[in-house]
Amino acid sequence: MNNQSNMSKVLAFFSESKFCNDCDTRIRFGDIDCPHCGCDLDDLYMQWAHNLLKNLNCEEEN
Ligand SMILES: [Zn+2]
Repeated sequence: MNNQSNMSKVLAFFSESKFCNDCDTRIRFGDIDCPHCGCDLDDLYMQWAHNLLKNLNCEEEN
């Protein structure tokens, strides 16, 4: 696997916009909860991480 392209994928994921599942407020990476409705963003980050790992083809098999 090519490291350079993996880094590009990671950077692309970081710059990707994420939105609150409840109120669609735009979330900046690092926010722990939604600045608008206070919704916990754990699920959002877990899903985000899951997609990133899948994208890098190193998803854990369990
Ligand atoms: Zn929200």
